[in-house]
Amino acid sequence: MKKTQKVAARKRIAMVAHDHRKHDLLEWAEFNKTVLARHELIATGTTGKLLEERLDRPVKKMLSGPLGGDQQVGAMIAEGLIDVLIFFWDPMEAQPHDPDVKALLRLAVAWNIPTASNRATSDFLMTSPLMHEEYESAVPDFSDYLKRRVDQ
Ligand code: PGA
Repeated sequence: MKKTQKVAARKRIAMVAHDHRKHDLLEWAEFNKTVLARHELIATGTTGKLLEERLDRPVKKMLSGPLGGDQQVGAMIAEGLIDVLIFFWDPMEAQPHDPDVKALLRLAVAWNIPTASNRATSDFLMTSPLMHEEYESAVPDFSDYLKRRVDQ
């Protein structure tokens, strides 16, 4: 039987932006302030601090990305504590924590988390009716994968 998980109308949105994309994310978040007010915000350290200032509301702040924040957000995804990921990563510059960036994006795909990496996709996500109502999300079933590893 396919496993699903109820995602509440109030979503837990994780936000991460690399330095050259922070301006873009902050501008987008301010424009969407009213819509975002209906949801809980979680962010990597610096992004979170800037969001708090810009939106004048609390944001749950993890460590700064390069110091482990991306991994913390990834772990939250794996534990079912994040519903949406808005991750403005920098396509023009390598990051000191590139492996963490890749790992975070990988977990978002592995756990079927809606993810946006630019303003256009974030707009589409935010205007989806599913963003504001309860949603029955398919939980990927990794039991065959785990069994294969044990049976080898
Ligand atoms: P920061 O981390 O919000 O602490 O700048 C973002 C990142 O992953 O680079």
